[in-house]
Amino acid sequence: MDSLWHWSIRLADNLIRLNKNRIVITAGITPSGPVHLGSVCEFLFPEAIYRVLKMRNNQIDVKMYFIADVLDALDSVTADLQDYESVIKEDMGKPLILARDPKGIYRSYAERYVEELRQIMRMFNSHLELILVSDLYERGMFDKYTDLYMRQIDRVKEIVQKTSGRELPHGWTPIMAICGRCGRIDRTRVLFYDPSVQEYEYRCDSCGHTDRAKLEDHKYKLQWRLHWPTWQTILESDIEGGGVDHFTKGGSRDTAVAIHREILNREPPIGYKYGFVLLDGKKYSKSKGIGMYVRDMLKIVPPEIVAYHLLKYDLEENIDFNPTKDKILNMIDDYESASQIDPTSELSRAERKKYVAFNLFRRDIKVSFREMLLYYSVYRDWNKVRNHIELDEYYMSYIENWYRTGFVPEDYDFTYRPSKIDEYKDLVSSWHSGMSALDIHNSIYDYSQKISVPAQEIFRYLYRALIGKDRGPRMGKLIYALGVDRVKDDIL
Ligand SMILES: [Zn+2]
Repeated sequence: MDSLWHWSIRLADNLIRLNKNRIVITAGITPSGPVHLGSVCEFLFPEAIYRVLKMRNNQIDVKMYFIADVLDALDSVTADLQDYESVIKEDMGKPLILARDPKGIYRSYAERYVEELRQIMRMFNSHLELILVSDLYERGMFDKYTDLYMRQIDRVKEIVQKTSGRELPHGWTPIMAICGRCGRIDRTRVLFYDPSVQEYEYRCDSCGHTDRAKLEDHKYKLQWRLHWPTWQTILESDIEGGGVDHFTKGGSRDTAVAIHREILNREPPIGYKYGFVLLDGKKYSKSKGIGMYVRDMLKIVPPEIVAYHLLKYDLEENIDFNPTKDKILNMIDDYESASQIDPTSELSRAERKKYVAFNLFRRDIKVSFREMLLYYSVYRDWNKVRNHIELDEYYMSYIENWYRTGFVPEDYDFTYRPSKIDEYKDLVSSWHSGMSALDIHNSIYDYSQKISVPAQEIFRYLYRALIGKDRGPRMGKLIYALGVDRVKDDIL
């Protein structure tokens, strides 16, 4: 496999070419709402690079850090917390780590979603080490860089203006102070900085408070465009990606590159940009609650299948992920079929990407999900299903959840309720227990030709007789699962 197969291989090979003893991969997220598929990409993409590096050379020392940007200001009420709007509004503008969890369960608003993120990352067997950015500030790791930026504020401001294409307001500073009285970070202005004692004076436009604070008090964060290259420097990052919004011309990546080179005197980490995850063309959004939350999705789709579908595309392509009943079943089929791809055969580009995506999150397929779903739909009892097919214990809980939550696709949502037939009796009589599902299926087509009745009509008639519906799972498979002799006894 070379770097043309998949973007993760291309990026891993770029890292290997750096020829370093230790490789550091960084990524970051603002945990301001429930984890959605876009947030999964934030840790999944670095994970993919990590796994390729390890496949290339298991001895390679790779560190991965996932920064939870918990000093970002609370700025919206997410769809899952609408009932707590009044509490949340009181804390608007405070850093997420200093805002309350409106339900009073977690230590802070940030902790609520950081905890969810941790759990979900664990389900994906993520190797990223999650770090609260507030811990890095509290350990004083940003202070010397903040001092550096404040001492050269005119140069820094000019770089930010030039790279963003935006004129910054008079009085702009790298420091965003946390107000000592009301706790807001989004309404303060730094008025003055004294480098001799690393102290700044600020005014809060929300509550009118004016005060002084030292960098070592750690009651501030840096403006995003400086914050980002600074954590990359602190953690000695070799690679960090971002969404297209950061990597567009005038985006924060352009600023970060310039800050690394012109102020920090180091080469920026390798960058890579990725597209959005879309649902019917719309961006998944945590505040508006568009799309299924990942915590709910993972009850009905195994994580490696979610991962596969986020990894099988080109990196910059937008990913359309629509978790409807039928589409999810097709996604599971697609994942399972990728297990059959032979890398030594002639493969299309799409097949190569699927092959890599599958192998990054591979699981041995014992029996297909669709097959288990069909048998469970027929028997509704695993002990009975076990008499007919091999079971994959892992899939069982998902299938049960599909039934519990009403997620079963229409074609599989049936009960065997046989009724006697008046038509096509000679067709049904011709079946015998030695026939495969495909034999049965073909026999219906042959019969339809022979009597010049459209096959669809015969199918509909038989579905009605077997399950009281106009359609269902593939007829041959259904009859095979039910047992030919049993069907003949029941409907003839
Ligand atoms: Zn204030």
